[in-house]
Amino acid sequence: MVARDAGSREHGPELRSLPSVEELAASLELPHAVAVAAAREAIAARRDALLADDPPAGWDAHADALARARAGEAPHLRGVINATGVIVHTNLGRAPLPAAAVDAIAAAASGYSNLEYDLDAGARGSRHAHVEGLLRELTGAEAAMAVNNCASAVLLAAAALAAGRELIVSRGQLVEIGGSFRVPDVVAQSGARLVEVGTTNRTRLADYERAIGPEAGAVMRAHQSNFRTVGFVEEVEIEQLCGLGVPVIDDVGSGALAERLPELADEPPVRRSVAAGAAIVCFSGDKLLGGPQAGLMVGTRDAIERCRTHPLARALRIDKLSLAALEATLRLYRDPARALREVPVLRMLAAGEDELRRRAEAMRERIDGADVIRAAAKVGGGALPLLELEGPVCAVDPGDHGADELARRLRAYEPPVIGRVRDGWLVLDPRTMSDDEARQAAAAVAAALAG
Ligand SMILES: *Cc1c(COP(=O)(O)O)cnc(C)c1O
Repeated sequence: MVARDAGSREHGPELRSLPSVEELAASLELPHAVAVAAAREAIAARRDALLADDPPAGWDAHADALARARAGEAPHLRGVINATGVIVHTNLGRAPLPAAAVDAIAAAASGYSNLEYDLDAGARGSRHAHVEGLLRELTGAEAAMAVNNCASAVLLAAAALAAGRELIVSRGQLVEIGGSFRVPDVVAQSGARLVEVGTTNRTRLADYERAIGPEAGAVMRAHQSNFRTVGFVEEVEIEQLCGLGVPVIDDVGSGALAERLPELADEPPVRRSVAAGAAIVCFSGDKLLGGPQAGLMVGTRDAIERCRTHPLARALRIDKLSLAALEATLRLYRDPARALREVPVLRMLAAGEDELRRRAEAMRERIDGADVIRAAAKVGGGALPLLELEGPVCAVDPGDHGADELARRLRAYEPPVIGRVRDGWLVLDPRTMSDDEARQAAAAVAAALAG
């Protein structure tokens, strides 16, 4: 408070002579609301600086307000270059879409579509029809639907099969996935009564058998997506759970659909859960599937029908743009080799040493004092926590700036470049960048080091 008083006393004349919002706004020659917002922001910032006794010299009210108006015109949600090597980076928008999915979005967005219209019958149709056939073919399930995201899928499945009844879950699977998704909380929201069985590290079939009574609505299995328990551990396999005689909801999280990809070996395959007889298998569209945000539900005809007709289904429904992207992405999976070539997430997972080294070297050549070293990145997105994706990366010596300051400058670049700081170095991982993005990232680093 002392500084504030001193500041206001010393800068009193300037505080009193600040322009009025209306006066400054009128000088900007911009739409009224834009001008007023920018003027108000500029004046408030100047007043705060004066009161804090830290006013930058040579303030030009007009230029300041104009700059703020211009900054406000740039999109707030914008593209960034992901140099972290984390493929499914939830903070950076998870999966970049295949080109086919981008085209499908553009087509669905720019005109009308048969979203809920049956072209044969000339009558109302179902939005689920666009992906149900593909999901059945790819997973072997009798029926399928898509909702907003996997959290929605789990909530809907639990509500449809177990509201007002008991939902049995192993204590080893009462997990938190991230973004406030906690299995016990989701079960509570569904209206089912959670019945915990087993222990944190070991749950046996007999634990489930003892817990199942006349009130049992379903058994739920939740994949330990972002961590693993090791050592003295035991969980019941999906085939055994499906033999218990109650419907099984299997939340596999990422959901491995791609075949023949050794990197995915540690994720539960959707097909296996379907073949085992799970009533509903839930998985994400934008994790390792590499498509848009969506929650996929595949299972028995009866269970999926109960989900479709549940009142929550409308609240959790998928929008037409995501649906268009999802259909296009799933179509790629009909040809596994094509999926590996065209789904960016799969391509990055399987990227070869030569490709990564070439891109890392290209960055090194453009940056003074950079080196190519080996480092490991994670898949991210709460998947495959034990998998280390090792490969060549470009490591930048930040010099006197320090790595955190260099990282900050890169975030202020257009487009922003998000790197990884490790042991005082700034690391640029070629796995999550295209050749062109790697060139832009290197140019940004060169400029940041020089500036
Ligand atoms: C990620 C995940 C979810 C939530 O999926 P979203 O698509 O992010 O809603 C639910 N369950 C498991 C096991 C997960 O890994």
